[in-house]
Amino acid sequence: MPGLIEGHSHLFLHPYNETTWDDQVLKESRAERTARAVEHAKATLMAGFTTVRDLGTEGSMYDDVGLKTAIEKGVVPGPRMICATRAIVAKGTYGPKSPSPDVVLPQGAAEVANINELENEVRTQISKGADVVKIYADYRWGKNGEAEPTFTTGEIAAAVAIAKSSDREVVTHATTAEGMLRAINAGVSTIEHGDNGTADIFKLMKEKGVALCPTLAAGDAIEQYRGWRKGIDPEPDRITNKKKTFQLALKAGVTICMGGDVGVFAHGDNAREMELMVQYGMKTLDVLKSATSTNADVFGYGDRIGRIKQGLLADLIAVENKDCWPTSLLLKGILLPT
Ligand SMILES: [Zn+2]
Repeated sequence: MPGLIEGHSHLFLHPYNETTWDDQVLKESRAERTARAVEHAKATLMAGFTTVRDLGTEGSMYDDVGLKTAIEKGVVPGPRMICATRAIVAKGTYGPKSPSPDVVLPQGAAEVANINELENEVRTQISKGADVVKIYADYRWGKNGEAEPTFTTGEIAAAVAIAKSSDREVVTHATTAEGMLRAINAGVSTIEHGDNGTADIFKLMKEKGVALCPTLAAGDAIEQYRGWRKGIDPEPDRITNKKKTFQLALKAGVTICMGGDVGVFAHGDNAREMELMVQYGMKTLDVLKSATSTNADVFGYGDRIGRIKQGLLADLIAVENKDCWPTSLLLKGILLPT
């Protein structure tokens, strides 16, 4: 098979049931986080994922670019990396949240307070090695901590205009319908998560050629960390809702990228997302395409990877043909020289 492509990773995070996200950002040194990321990169590669789109270092600055360079130089084994560096958030909306207005905590992404700062940050990240620009179109800053839109359509569009000038795309974290709508109208390339998408929104995504990276496995993992005994307890509302919106997106014919938000759960378990895509109603062959040719095309690498085809890189994996194939997508990748 072509090497698998992870569409949404965080090599600088490890599972939240080991250490909370806040504690990773606030209490782990950059050196520790880099050491972990090196191990994560190796685990990813050995699971058959030869490329990752890494969507934010979550407090580790531009260290993804350094890791990418070390992999390219052959210093450590790892996948080809598409780096977002820090991700961009509206000031005061992200985390870790401070317990007191008098205490300013380091943040897990780059904060911007207005359009000038946003434009400046996009240019800075590009200059530091970002291959793609990630913006949070909404986050949990509502009166009771609900997710609400953070940037205006115009602000996101300004970031898109700058990124596109340099032949880069903007990708957006969006879970609310309004956040998704603003991002789509602003010209982003992918919507990450998309939990509250409606039939109309998915129709618009299809029309405008915006892909959805649903990150099913992250929600599945987080609910289990919160105590959901999968297969024993009733399905949490969040999972039921996620299935429903994923199926709406499939019905509307939206391009689906395979990306699990891996880092929330263990690196190397990337195929969990593929198994859930099948369980939530996507055809097995479409899931395999999503994790190879579709991701390659959407991320702008279709002329190099994602297919077995003359002229492309020999980026190949061998997979065991299990008895239950193809209903289960448990993949044991053994790498061949690329
Ligand atoms: Zn993520």
